[in-house]
Amino acid sequence: MPIPTENVGSLPRPAKLQSAIAAYDAGEIGLDQLQLEQDEACRDSIQRMEATGSWIVSDGEQRASSFATYPITDTLAGTGLADNLAGDGQYFAIFDDGHHRQLPRLVGGPFRYKTFASQYLKKSLPLATKPMKQAVIAPSMLSLLYPLDESLDGYPREQFLADLCDEAEKDIRQAFAAGAQRVSIDFTEGRLASKNDPRNPWTGRAMLAQFIELNNRVIDRFSTDERVNLGVHTCPGGDMDSVHSLDVDYADLLPSMFRMNAGYFLIQLASEADKERVYQLIGEHSRADADGVPQVCFVGVVDPLNPTVETPDQVADALVTAARFIPTDRLGATDDCGFSPFSVDDKPRHGSPDFARDIAFQKIANRVEGVRRAEEILGLP
Ligand SMILES: [Zn+2]
Repeated sequence: MPIPTENVGSLPRPAKLQSAIAAYDAGEIGLDQLQLEQDEACRDSIQRMEATGSWIVSDGEQRASSFATYPITDTLAGTGLADNLAGDGQYFAIFDDGHHRQLPRLVGGPFRYKTFASQYLKKSLPLATKPMKQAVIAPSMLSLLYPLDESLDGYPREQFLADLCDEAEKDIRQAFAAGAQRVSIDFTEGRLASKNDPRNPWTGRAMLAQFIELNNRVIDRFSTDERVNLGVHTCPGGDMDSVHSLDVDYADLLPSMFRMNAGYFLIQLASEADKERVYQLIGEHSRADADGVPQVCFVGVVDPLNPTVETPDQVADALVTAARFIPTDRLGATDDCGFSPFSVDDKPRHGSPDFARDIAFQKIANRVEGVRRAEEILGLP
């Protein structure tokens, strides 16, 4: 596989599954009925992703409340919230279309994950005939569960961060142990950390450096062999076909981001206005040796928020251009983001989540074919 390619993780939940989530929150159906719908959505997601030709697939995170909250709540409405949490935490993000997503708030210790990603993966692996990947949430995101300024009685921030790192490490280890070929850490809060949005106080606190340090505390617990298959995903957000930090200059993020000792990076790029400048930043700041592993840079070649399907030739062109700036032995291709990181998402620019699913699989198929064409053009074996 001269140019490796993989998806980020999520797919839009079918309208039928989103209705089931609402019915579950309203107490109209039980967990067993919701899980039947989740199983069916995972089966459909895996079959259709395998049909794209991709060597590796995910279950589209059809069981997760969101990419960020799966460890701590069963649904976005807060059904099944984990211990020591209240629903009214700080904003995770305020998106460009005006909608926002809110995190729960830690009210005491200890902090523990209620659900590990491997629990979903174990249910999905028997449905797949190809290798599977698993996305997990970065500890930096969940560090925002702790109040920004106060200290919790009997549970100081440092103890919380120590517990959080242990849980995040378990999440990754258990995903590999369950059979994930690759594990990528969602780090969408990285770019948002440089936004300085007065409506969302944490974004104005220059927290990027401590996010990087916290994530490395977990990543550095893994061996070089493990870190080859341990990635980090960056993006400007992707929810309801809107973004939260596309206006933040990548130059404010990328030099710091590549300080994380991960073996690969899934980098939103298709929706960037000046792609060559970003390829150049990646070429300059990614490391051939990140504490023993080369950093393979998967550039985004399709935009999950835009219903227009990129052609294989457009994908190939992007990769050929990227190869002028990034060594081909450290170049990969990905989607800009998950296709629907939050479970409840009606994909307004697409018209419906079901249509958005159809589009997503076309985009993935064209990414796979575009990579093949780029390999030909670049003369890669
Ligand atoms: Zn993303």
